[in-house]
Amino acid sequence: MKLTIERRKLHLKHPFLIARRMDDRSTDKQVLLVKLEHKGKVGWGEAAPISYYHQSLDSAERALKEMAGMLGDDPFALDAILDPIWAKFADQSAAICALDGALHDLIGKLLDVPVWKLLGLDRNRTPLTSFTIGIDTPDVVARKVDEAAEFPILKIKVGTDQDETMLNIIRDKAPHKKLFVDANCGWTPANVVERCRFVSRYKLELIEQPMPPGEHAGLAEVRAELREPIIADESCVGVDDVLKCAQHFDGINIKLSKCGGLRRALQMIHTARSAGMKVMLGCMVETSVGIALAANLAPLVDFVDLDGHMLLADDPFEGIGGANGVLTLNDRPGLGIVERK
Ligand code: MG
Repeated sequence: MKLTIERRKLHLKHPFLIARRMDDRSTDKQVLLVKLEHKGKVGWGEAAPISYYHQSLDSAERALKEMAGMLGDDPFALDAILDPIWAKFADQSAAICALDGALHDLIGKLLDVPVWKLLGLDRNRTPLTSFTIGIDTPDVVARKVDEAAEFPILKIKVGTDQDETMLNIIRDKAPHKKLFVDANCGWTPANVVERCRFVSRYKLELIEQPMPPGEHAGLAEVRAELREPIIADESCVGVDDVLKCAQHFDGINIKLSKCGGLRRALQMIHTARSAGMKVMLGCMVETSVGIALAANLAPLVDFVDLDGHMLLADDPFEGIGGANGVLTLNDRPGLGIVERK
């Protein structure tokens, strides 16, 4: 198998501000696209390295270059390929996700089967995806909500002193839409009960990551009092975190760049289900390649936040839809995506 790696420059439609990164108004974004070739077929994968977990384009690219020499010649031998790679690059989950994605796309194409079908999933169970409204000035937020009119579920970034303004604008313009809120670690044990109570007045479907990983004080009170499930994101990186989170949260948000691909995500889903937890699928800002890998698992989960490709002005791939919140698991083999001409 031959693996090639390419840096791809992308552009966001809007700057994307969240509570733990309020100074980044850039609309440039770079990812790594990887191409895995075998017997005339090409599998695509994507790495969107996460700086919060100390990954960068450079670290991911270095890891992928080394991985290229460790692949052997049987794409179906997933354990034989991925176990040594996990042993060597455990801190490079985004790079492993790219390889895992390319392997699944390639396997699907070699068998002429879509990945969701290979997994035995029912595509009619794919939940609608939310569309994320980042933190911004009131007039920009209002404009973003107008632009997102087609989406039945909005995800709102909270965790700053603008929460009330943001939520008022959104509920004023979209009184009946389903709302997810994500505090991205923005609250503290001192204010978490009060903040969760406050945001809950806006009628929510869930509250994501109220406080930084390791902080749990107040969450038991919040869970006892409020109806909304409390979902771990930054607190739940990989398989090992799922059962630890079961004590403090109602569910987990799995992102494939964070956990290292579809294979690990499946383990996390089954572990979470065995602990009676809700499961959400999330994403980074990434192209349809990365989003498609997660979308192929979506029939297994309760909440879907797979809008990364729709935040881009120049997604180089297409095939998984997303308009009106409807992700499409199509009949194309592999991940179901094609390069835009
Ligand atoms: Mg989150």
